[in-house]
Amino acid sequence: MPTMNLPIPKIEGPACFDAESCFFQSVAQKISFIDENLLQVLNSFRRQICLEIPLRKDDGKLITIKAYRVQHNNARGPYKGGFRIHQQVTLEEVQMLANLMTWKGAVVNIPFGGAKGGIAIDPSTLTKTELERLVRAYTYQLGDNIGPHTDIPAPDVNTGSQTMAWFYDEYAKSHSTNALGVVTGKPLGLGGSEGREEATGRGVMYTLREIAKDLKMDLSKTKILIEGFGNVGYWAARLINDELKGKIVGVSTSKGGIYNANGINVMAAHDYYVKNRTLKGFPGADFMSPREFLLADCDVLIPSALEGSIDVEIANKTNAQIIIEGANGPVTGPANEILIDKRRVVAPGILANAGGVVVSYFEWVQNLQQFYWTHEEVNKKLEKIIVSAYENVRDLSRAKKISLRQAAYTIGLERVAQAIILRGTGF
Ligand code: GLU
Repeated sequence: MPTMNLPIPKIEGPACFDAESCFFQSVAQKISFIDENLLQVLNSFRRQICLEIPLRKDDGKLITIKAYRVQHNNARGPYKGGFRIHQQVTLEEVQMLANLMTWKGAVVNIPFGGAKGGIAIDPSTLTKTELERLVRAYTYQLGDNIGPHTDIPAPDVNTGSQTMAWFYDEYAKSHSTNALGVVTGKPLGLGGSEGREEATGRGVMYTLREIAKDLKMDLSKTKILIEGFGNVGYWAARLINDELKGKIVGVSTSKGGIYNANGINVMAAHDYYVKNRTLKGFPGADFMSPREFLLADCDVLIPSALEGSIDVEIANKTNAQIIIEGANGPVTGPANEILIDKRRVVAPGILANAGGVVVSYFEWVQNLQQFYWTHEEVNKKLEKIIVSAYENVRDLSRAKKISLRQAAYTIGLERVAQAIILRGTGF
């Protein structure tokens, strides 16, 4: 299992609570118009909500579950970010993820700030009715701290369109006007957007396509390994296969992965996983432990699971030339330094996995306008945003001779800092 305890990289400067914070600090210190006081604002959280939710189980037992919503910064627009349900959720993790949302929205230049939520329980231990009661209680407890112009949650780890439908319904009970824009990632039949489900994987695919173009790489001849077979991993694998003719040599879940150097059939693997809830036993591929899997031979590695899975050992041993962060914060600080020293291309999550929040933005716009777009229109608009954000990041990284991650943070930070300066202190 990937560890949640992120090692602190050796970067000079203020104390850091995790790797992404250190990436941020090291870039912020180099931006001339960010002084100590502004840095303090960028480092702080506007609001942090800690809940303890009582849940009545179907058998009558009462349990209490910790849950959070952290609103990091709203200088550029309403807070925006998903919420996850996972046993490893902590306040510190949600803080880090809220932080990333602020920079992610700014890198792709959509008018949102950053937030994140989390409920600390393994959802597989709950029945569907228990899960629904939990999501409704969480929504109710957040009260008016969320809203279409305040804070707009969305799916993340172990949450999806049904979760968002419950969330919307609970919010709508006490807000009688059309409030579809309170949450994104809703089902198509309830104000959802075409293309939202595949959006994060699609953004990962566009990022890989652009990097491969720059490196003059023929993707049909490269081995692509994808960690994670949830929404991001599955859609990235499928679209890279279908639209780029890329060879997917492995996919994995938290229990282990399957590998075949000649390529695996992504759709067949997905059907097998849906049927058996494991990839073990999938015909024509070797089953590996999660760690063995990450060390398997590949040219492109796409971590799309949880934070911290690409640690020092993996960074030292992987032969992947390109690492694309499908997940949020999968590469630890020290691992990042090793990869950069080895001259590997690392596409940061605040750029590479931004497709999800971009199409969330489209969904929100469609909800507010009550005018809906076709799947093709959504994909075209998404492609334009991801490609132009990538080009900006790549051009800055070339001009300044810095990594893609440093360039992405520079662009994101400058945009947020400028908005704060323009607004004064009243936002
Ligand atoms: N959870 C996704 C992310 O981390 C999507 C957030 C959103 O759509 O607001 O980017």
